[in-house]
Amino acid sequence: MNIGPILAQTLNHFFPELNAWIDQIYDPRFLPLVIYHKRFLLWWGLSLFLCKLSSRRQLDYQLNTDGPEVLNNLNRLASTAQDSRPVNRTLECFLAKIGAAPIAGLRGQMVRRLIRTKALDAARLQGRFLVLIDGSGYLVFNHRHCDHCLTQRHGDTTLYMHQVLEAKLLGPAGMVVSIATEFIDNRDTASAPAGASQERVKQDCELKALRRLMKTLRAEFPQLRICLNNDGLYACGEGFQVAKDYNCDYIYIFQPGRLPALWEDFQGLLRLCPEQRVEWTTPQGAQQVYRWVNGLDYQDSDGRDWTLNALECTETDKEGKKTEWSWVTSLDLDHKTVVEVATRGGRARWREENEGFNTQKNSGLNLEHAYSHTCWAAYYYLLQIAHLLLQLVEKGSLLRQLAQEQGKRTAVALFGSLKNMAQRLLESLRFWHWPDEVFDRTGVRGIQIRWDTS
Ligand SMILES: [Zn+2]
Repeated sequence: MNIGPILAQTLNHFFPELNAWIDQIYDPRFLPLVIYHKRFLLWWGLSLFLCKLSSRRQLDYQLNTDGPEVLNNLNRLASTAQDSRPVNRTLECFLAKIGAAPIAGLRGQMVRRLIRTKALDAARLQGRFLVLIDGSGYLVFNHRHCDHCLTQRHGDTTLYMHQVLEAKLLGPAGMVVSIATEFIDNRDTASAPAGASQERVKQDCELKALRRLMKTLRAEFPQLRICLNNDGLYACGEGFQVAKDYNCDYIYIFQPGRLPALWEDFQGLLRLCPEQRVEWTTPQGAQQVYRWVNGLDYQDSDGRDWTLNALECTETDKEGKKTEWSWVTSLDLDHKTVVEVATRGGRARWREENEGFNTQKNSGLNLEHAYSHTCWAAYYYLLQIAHLLLQLVEKGSLLRQLAQEQGKRTAVALFGSLKNMAQRLLESLRFWHWPDEVFDRTGVRGIQIRWDTS
């Protein structure tokens, strides 16, 4: 077995209808489509990210005729019968015609299917999915490329930027699944008070984008039980109100400086209830002490009253180094729940920073590269879909079996890095004839894929 066929099997196992979903995208009327089917073009675009080619031009060089199996493998992935390859301009024209919305829709269908088939259920906390929200820079240009660029002056030069705010669902085995996206631009800064600090403008921007993001998310996933898992920026009246308006629980990082009066109440009440305490030793030998208070009252700057719970964890490692974390949450805390709320909830946040945007920037997916100056949002969603597929392959048991046959424990140990894994996938796509049975959508339904949760 080889990584390419494992990708095809994983794909058909989780998303047997993927090509049928692509068929629902309307047919743009433009010339190359007479030659290239939209399913083929979409797979061509996904290959850019699955194989981490880093720039659109590389499609023309890496997926060209000296890879004798490229056409055959892509044709079978897309269920098409193309006898030639497009060039990267063809993909660009296609995406410019259809826009970003159908690709965002495709991502939504894939996530809904994973949720419906309970593939992500192992990561639920008290029945809720943890949804991590984080912002990131996305594109930076040294010239204005649209009316809505955010601008930032650096000495004599002005940078033109686009930022993004994402909701990512935390799946099993550290998977991070993009489920909703809002692009932040100068429409978000327009109402900032004159003379406001850059930090204040950034906070306003993100909070405003958060409300839009949750509206989009709820339109796609109205019933999903969600616990928002956010940094301290969101621990404020608007952050609590958004959670309430969109029917979510929350675990937000509790920074003393962000909510000083509430922090003092919390510390005072902790002293009054010494029995609300759990001690635990981690497998690595660190001593942890968890303490909590339920029912803290808080009035925000708009006069709204809130009742919330707070917890803190103090960890002392074997060298005696102390670290403290605190969170505010809507979840009830007691001796049974406090550790899981802190460890599976609060501290799970680091994964988004490591597995989410960091991976997308640094492992070859090249998130901050301007794949296009016009339809960049479409490429953004293609990247998210490809990253989801790569994670399903990486964390799934099919690739782990392959690794173990070669005496390695994980996929990353087998290939050395995620970037190498994509390189092997590219070689596989180019030179390896993937066996017909891995494309058989009835056959792969019988296979089992379990997550590497070790
Ligand atoms: Zn712009």
